[in-house]
Amino acid sequence: MSRIDLHTHTTWSDGSYSPTELVEWAHHHDIRTLAITDHDTTEGLDEALPLSQALGMDLIPGMEISTRFQEREIHVLGYFMNYQDPTFQTRIRGLQSTRLQRIQKILHKLEFNGVSLYLEDVQRLAGSGSIGRPHIAQVLIQQGHASTFREAFEKYLGIRGTAYVPRDVPEVFETFSWIREAGGVVILAHPFWEGFRREDVDSACQTLVENGLQGLEVFYGTFSAKQISFNLHLAKRFNLLVSGGSDFHGTYKPEIAIGKGKGSLKVPQSALDQLRKAAGK
Ligand SMILES: [Zn+2]
Ligand SMILES: [Zn+2]
Repeated sequence: MSRIDLHTHTTWSDGSYSPTELVEWAHHHDIRTLAITDHDTTEGLDEALPLSQALGMDLIPGMEISTRFQEREIHVLGYFMNYQDPTFQTRIRGLQSTRLQRIQKILHKLEFNGVSLYLEDVQRLAGSGSIGRPHIAQVLIQQGHASTFREAFEKYLGIRGTAYVPRDVPEVFETFSWIREAGGVVILAHPFWEGFRREDVDSACQTLVENGLQGLEVFYGTFSAKQISFNLHLAKRFNLLVSGGSDFHGTYKPEIAIGKGKGSLKVPQSALDQLRKAAGK
C-alpha cells in the first residue's frame, strides 16, 4: 500500500469516479499525494484541486497521452505542467477532435455489422470529457449487444473486434515537447516494452531519452517484481527519474485498487521528491 499514487483516471476520461469522488476515495484510502492523469485532458484538475487542498492532500497535475513510437502505441505521462497554458490547451483540443472522429468511424462499422447506436448516447456518457471506446462499450451493454466490457471489446471494439478502428495518435516526440514547453516532466507510462525484442529495449529507450524522455513509470499497478526490477535497472542505466501509480479506473477496473494496484504497489517518497525537483516544484 502506497501513500503516493501518480496514475489515476476520472470520469473526464475512462474512470468511473468524478474528480471529487476520486479525491474522496483517495483520502479515505490514506493517499497523501495524488496525481490525476486523465487521457488527453486536464479538465478534472480544477474540480479536484480545492477539495484536495481542504483535505490536506497534495494534488499533482498530470495527463496521459497515447502516442506513436516505432509503429507502436505507447503512453506518455506528463506531470506538473502549467496546464492552463493556452498553447498547451490548444494542442490537447486537437487530441479531442481525433478522438471524436474515431468514435464516428467505429459507429459506422458497427452499423455495417447490424448494430445501430446513436452518437448522442455515447456522447452523453462521455459528458464533456475525453470520449473513448469504453463509452461505446457501455452503450453496447445498455442496449443488450454485449453483457460485459470484455465481451464488447472482444466482439466489436478491441483490435480483433469487427468494428475496430485504429486511433490516429500524435508522434511521441511531439508530445514530449508539448509537456516540456508547458513546464512539465515527461514519463513513459507502464513500460511493458511490448513488441520490443529484449535486445532492442536499450536502443528504444536511448532514442526516447535523446528526444526528451525524463523518466519511467517503474512502479505500476500490475507490474511483477521482475518487471519492476527490469525497469529500475533501465532507469539507472539512463539516469532517469522513476515514477509510480496504480492506473486506477474506479469500478471499471475493479481489480486495480487505488494506491495498491493489483497487489503491493509502493511508490517511494524519494521518487516523488526527485520528480518535484526536476519540475522545479
Ligand atoms: Zn496507459
Ligand atoms: Zn492510465
